[in-house]
Amino acid sequence: MPVAHCYVVGSPIRHSRSPLIHRLFAEQFGYALRYDRREVQPGTLGTAVAEFQQQGVRGINVTIPLKEEACSLANRRSARAQAAGAANVLTFEADGSIEADNTDGLGMVRDLEAHGIALPGRRVMMLGAGGAARGVVPALLDAGVAGIVVVNRTAAKAASLVEAFAGYGAVSAHDPATPCASACELLVNATSAGLTSTTPPPVPPGAADADTVCYDLVYASGETAFLAWARDAGIRRRIDGLGMLVEQAAAAFERWHGLRPETAPVISALRERL
Ligand code: NDP
Repeated sequence: MPVAHCYVVGSPIRHSRSPLIHRLFAEQFGYALRYDRREVQPGTLGTAVAEFQQQGVRGINVTIPLKEEACSLANRRSARAQAAGAANVLTFEADGSIEADNTDGLGMVRDLEAHGIALPGRRVMMLGAGGAARGVVPALLDAGVAGIVVVNRTAAKAASLVEAFAGYGAVSAHDPATPCASACELLVNATSAGLTSTTPPPVPPGAADADTVCYDLVYASGETAFLAWARDAGIRRRIDGLGMLVEQAAAAFERWHGLRPETAPVISALRERL
């Protein structure tokens, strides 16, 4: 059997855990896979992709800051990549065409399901309005949440996200300093605040109570800044983004190789190595 070859690209890329995740998936099936990292600077993804296609690479995962560029250079886009305007998965087809997908939102929805959290009818607040938020919003709406309130430091970016998803469902913006009339049921941190510091993103007063589920896209070896805030606020259910990372990778693996890997053992293996 020929060895399938895939890459993860972005900048910086050396800390990416994707090669390990995909290797652990491949081991579940005794599948022959080579998966490498490549540092790619913004504006140069097209050149790298042409090289990959020449080498017969099956597909690439795309991370910060190339997700928008990846989406725009594809010939075809899945509905969720189109909605997000950003792609984390490119698939190189035998006819030379490129398909873009965004599995970040699906990854989060599957991880929430794995934690036993039912999404239909939930009232959601999303902190952040960047590329990750754009991937997650359509997936949550597809999963049947009642509505999403977007809170972002830069109001114009929240307004632009709300406008982009106006046709998809109930999405509105809320100012970070304005108190909320009632607590939401799912509070998602899709900001990069707390990624490299211990300061969580600002949460509007009254946005959460003890029954709110807090989900952080960030993950860390210990507790993230946002989940530490949630613990201090008396919130019981707190989940970090490691499961989402593995689930979005599983969706890419299935797209490329036609095999659906078990994610729970890979999440545990990664947790041990964080
Ligand atoms: P972007 O750079 O596109 O967006 C960053 C967002 O964070 C913006 O909304 C920005 O607000 C906000 N922000 C940054 N710093 C602060 C701060 N100090 N206080 C308040 N808000 C702040 O990043 P992405 O959307 O691509 O990624 C967001 C996070 O999600 C990252 O931490 C990333 O690692 C994580 N992620 C995790 C995944 C997983 O699988 N677990 C998958 C994808 C992303 P403003 O508009 O005002 O600048």
